[in-house]
Amino acid sequence: MNSWEQRERARDVLSREVGYIRKPHGGRLRVALAFPNTYFVGMSNLGLQTVYKLFNELDGVVCERVFLPAKQELQALLKSGARLVTVESQTPVSDFDVFAFSVSFEWDYTNILTMLRLAGLPLYAAERGPRHPLVVIGGAVTFVNPEPLAPFADVIAAGEGESLIPALARAMAAANNRDETLAALAAERGFYIPSFYEVRYGGEGILEAFVPKPGTGAPPVVKKAAVKTTEALDPPSTVIYTPDTEFGSRFLVEVVRGCANLCRFCWAGYNYLPVRPFPADRILSLAKAAKPHANRAGLVSIALCDHPEIERILQSLHDMGYSISPASLRLDDLTPEIVRLLKASGEKSLTIAPETGSDRLRRVINKTMTNDQILEKAELIFSSGFENLKLYFMIGLPTETDTDLDAIGDLSLQLRDVMLKYARGRGHVGRIVGSVNPLIPKPGTAYQWLPLEDPASIDRKSRRLKGLLSGIDNVYFSVKSERHSYYQALLSLGDRRVAPAIVAAERNGGNWRAAVAEVGLNADAYLFRDRSSDAVLPWDIIDGGLKQGFFRSEWQKALKAETTLPPKRHESRTVLPLIES
Ligand code: SF4
Repeated sequence: MNSWEQRERARDVLSREVGYIRKPHGGRLRVALAFPNTYFVGMSNLGLQTVYKLFNELDGVVCERVFLPAKQELQALLKSGARLVTVESQTPVSDFDVFAFSVSFEWDYTNILTMLRLAGLPLYAAERGPRHPLVVIGGAVTFVNPEPLAPFADVIAAGEGESLIPALARAMAAANNRDETLAALAAERGFYIPSFYEVRYGGEGILEAFVPKPGTGAPPVVKKAAVKTTEALDPPSTVIYTPDTEFGSRFLVEVVRGCANLCRFCWAGYNYLPVRPFPADRILSLAKAAKPHANRAGLVSIALCDHPEIERILQSLHDMGYSISPASLRLDDLTPEIVRLLKASGEKSLTIAPETGSDRLRRVINKTMTNDQILEKAELIFSSGFENLKLYFMIGLPTETDTDLDAIGDLSLQLRDVMLKYARGRGHVGRIVGSVNPLIPKPGTAYQWLPLEDPASIDRKSRRLKGLLSGIDNVYFSVKSERHSYYQALLSLGDRRVAPAIVAAERNGGNWRAAVAEVGLNADAYLFRDRSSDAVLPWDIIDGGLKQGFFRSEWQKALKAETTLPPKRHESRTVLPLIES
């Protein structure tokens, strides 16, 4: 694909879009906003759409999108050597002031490198200079552990876009050169400049310290940036509609940010605290404006029903003619009214997450819901006319025994009984679909020090579960193997010494086993080692807000199957004593 064909392709894409923004470049900060996956995937990502809007709301900034070309185009582009261009003005990315990546998934790390290559930029920050765009990496992964990406980023933006984007634009407008920009950003909340730190390792290669380099002004830890309240903010929502994406006719909107349930394995729960609802009237007026372009509303929130006006929002969306897709629903939030409204909007399936089969193990992970309560909710769901139920479970949880695994089988069969009871009257039987994942301990959670469970043990547990649930009519279970998650876990739990393996995997077409071997990385040491006596963890360079002492006490309570009750909705900010401001 040559430059002309690439531009033609971009113009063709634009011709099918509604809502894209064109601004003259002259005198403005030029930001090429990258989603490190294809247009089809990226355009259904609310994070990308939000960052695009936030940048372009600033008068002095013009922000244009750029995506990883689809497979065939990518090969053609690499072959021709034509430079990657933005969608809006088809300008080469290398002409921009900032090349900003919005990264949601670890699997996209190699795509970041491919896009840097296509743009004609050196992969490593240390090899870039004043004539190159500033490479800024942000997005959900920076909340978790940005360290494996640190050598590629000039700047890592850790936290929420509403807070970070104006600060980035301000710093760049005030600075005269790259060095001044980096120094100014290092002084701002949420900006991590990896090159400003010396990383020290102990005798066995264990991380010992991040030491700010003298004269950089870099802080000992970088505090995550977050907005204190969303009361006056527009909710993130779809701004560009295109038929060429997975959720093309869907109006995506964030209803409430955060979840206060404090599940001990859940990085999203811990990292988006406190719970902050967006204004209901604004959600509804945006939904009304979007109606000509969308017939389905995708409500993107990890704890949807924590919005104090959720019933009014659901009812009004239904009245506007939307069918409603909730991203996920907590079991304790399923009230008769909410279930009725979801059913009325045309849903046939609901997804719930019992996580495990026994009440004891649920207390270990700090889920207070009991099996009896889950079965009561199933009665409510199926009696309201839902046909199918999707279930999320995990295996490899701390203190798990075979009895707990058997309890997953028992609970699933009891749920099937409830489904059958209501299906009889309808003459049509739905499905119970279970998805089982091995626990991957995540940074920034109460389980962050844990090693992954031995793959042989996970395999045995997986076989046991399959044995319990295979061959049962209307019950379908898939169990993900730990091997599948091994390299994803490495990217999630690693430090900056993992970066050369990302480079090798990008070059060899994604063969991670070969990449890790080529660079001589001991991946097992990152995954199967107990980190509880390590002085520093790779992700400690970002202060997500919750104190280490809190996580340690949560871990001790987990071992005793003791729960920490979530603060009530109106008291959700009472969790703030745990959070440093
Ligand atoms: S209820 Fe769901 S989103 Fe909330 S903390 Fe638990 S797992 Fe995370």
